[in-house]
Amino acid sequence: MIQHDVVIVGAGLAGMRSALEVCKELDVGMLTKVYPSRSHSGAAQGGIAASLGNSESDSWEEHMFDTVKGGDFLSDQDAVEEYVKAAPRVIYELEHMGCVFSRTPDGKIAQRSFGGHSKPRACFSADRTGHAILHALHEQLLKNAKSVKIYNEWYMHALIVDGDRCNGVVVSNIQSGEVEVIQAKAVVFCTGGYGRVFKITSNAFASTADGVMAAYAAGIPLEDLEFVQFHPSGLYRQGILFSEAARGEGAYLLNGNGERFMKEYAPSRMELAPRDIVARAEQSEMDAGRGVDGKDCIHLDLRHLGEARIMERLPQIRQLGIDFLGVDCVADCLPIQPTAHYSMGGIPTDLHSHVIIDAGGTRMNGFFAAGECACVSVHGGNRLGTNSLLEAVVFGERAGKSVLEYVAGIDHGNVNEGREKARVLKKFEDVFQRDGSESYNAIREEMKEVMMTHCGVFRDAEKLNVCIETLQGLQERFKKGKVTDKGKLFNTEIYEILELGNMLSIAQLIANNALQRKESRGGHFRTDYPKRDDVNFLHHSMVYGSQNGPVVKPKPVVITKHQPAERTY
Ligand SMILES: Cc1cc2nc3c(=O)[nH]c(=O)nc-3n(C[C@H](O)[C@H](O)[C@H](O)COP(=O)(O)OP(=O)(O)OC[C@H]3O[C@@H](n4cnc5c(N)ncnc54)[C@H](O)[C@@H]3O)c2cc1C
Repeated sequence: MIQHDVVIVGAGLAGMRSALEVCKELDVGMLTKVYPSRSHSGAAQGGIAASLGNSESDSWEEHMFDTVKGGDFLSDQDAVEEYVKAAPRVIYELEHMGCVFSRTPDGKIAQRSFGGHSKPRACFSADRTGHAILHALHEQLLKNAKSVKIYNEWYMHALIVDGDRCNGVVVSNIQSGEVEVIQAKAVVFCTGGYGRVFKITSNAFASTADGVMAAYAAGIPLEDLEFVQFHPSGLYRQGILFSEAARGEGAYLLNGNGERFMKEYAPSRMELAPRDIVARAEQSEMDAGRGVDGKDCIHLDLRHLGEARIMERLPQIRQLGIDFLGVDCVADCLPIQPTAHYSMGGIPTDLHSHVIIDAGGTRMNGFFAAGECACVSVHGGNRLGTNSLLEAVVFGERAGKSVLEYVAGIDHGNVNEGREKARVLKKFEDVFQRDGSESYNAIREEMKEVMMTHCGVFRDAEKLNVCIETLQGLQERFKKGKVTDKGKLFNTEIYEILELGNMLSIAQLIANNALQRKESRGGHFRTDYPKRDDVNFLHHSMVYGSQNGPVVKPKPVVITKHQPAERTY
């Protein structure tokens, strides 16, 4: 059995930042199924928010208000307050660690505008911000290589829980196929989001809900799963992201008639309204037959920005258009559509990144979560752009601090190695021994399709019921799937099947939560209940596993400074 003081699952911004916090005092194991710097954080383009006030005067109070309003008043305001207050410090720390931010002419950290933020507060490194931060953190970790062991291309299967305490994880080495138990005094999940559940998504292949579903399987409820963000500018038919930074720098959105249609939907903020509003506006234009060339797409127009500015601020976006579409945005518009982008929901935590197991905030000892897999919840019903990298860094650090406090003076808990290993080996065996004929690829495609068409930007009871039924059918077929590679070494097929299992399960939970939330708020829009309903639904949704399937219960929203008000832009 492998032993560490703490095991961190995930090597994106949240995992790296929390590892940095603990590695100076504790022995850390950090596990990741992809090479650390290939974690999805590295794909983040547009920026990281902080009220530095380098371009215009700004304050944490304004950042807080924008975040709460952007989240449609579902954010827990105590968490938001601490998080926006921490932001400026966090940016300077990243800079001192070696993260290269773009500059103003007088040498300050430059800040650009972003959707829903009333001030320019996105700090950025051209349009490769996640890459710059992830590499800076990775370098810092390598400097501490003595106390951090990175398990690169290892897969976490299950959480080990004994009563009210978490004692480790069951994992396997993807290369050798060996299953191992890691015993740890504390476990931190930083496993990212689950956008791959949808057909059109900006998310990396690794964003498949493994961590969230491992927590659920261990008896931990999940929070606010119905809130999935669709980003307005995904590459047409592929979903690859064209950062909101493009609009932040001044790009327009045009419908098929060449009109800047956002004037009809958010006249004061236009293209820089929050993402849920812009994505719905685009979908409404397309549904009304005003897409470009009669298709399900909209134009992102950067032509007026000019080549020099595009090359200085948005070089990656230009290259993506050229590589994937043969369209150079200096001369032509880019075809885009809404793309599944971010999961507001996840593993419930308190504002110290401690995982909680009920609406009253009871902690699961030794279990922490941070970053996109966690639900603190600072983003409420809809996350503002650039607030997620900030969340990953702030709460990654907090998870680290909480772990240091928690493990002081405690021993490792009990782990029955044989039993834990056997559980996971049985999962492998189950898949290998299936004598089925169903294609896992077909099941995956059908899941993605139905989630996109029936649980996407616009939802209603009829669509959601069809979605739930379809997913149930897919679950049945999943049990009769056909695996072609039964080898042990680097068997990527088996891992894709396990990931598909996680995605099918979370898809069912998302659709079920969406059916039960009979209102429209943030990223969750019900055409049969188009209004926000604060009387009946101003609460988080906690879904608990039970013998009879998932049970959804409310959890109160923490409201401190800002009472819910109508959300107009
Ligand atoms: C294209 C794109 C652009 C974005 N741009 C921005 C932006 O400009 N600003 C902003 O604020 N936000 C942005 N976001 C959102 C933001 O990047 C993410 O929410 C954030 O980076 C998530 O960080 P994380 O550390 O929580 O997870 P990730 O970076 O997703 O890392 C997850 C880690 O978990 C590991 N993992 C998962 N499952 C397992 C398993 N079973 N076993 C072992 N390891 C596992 C993975 O290997 C990986 O290391 C963007 C997102 C996308 C997709």
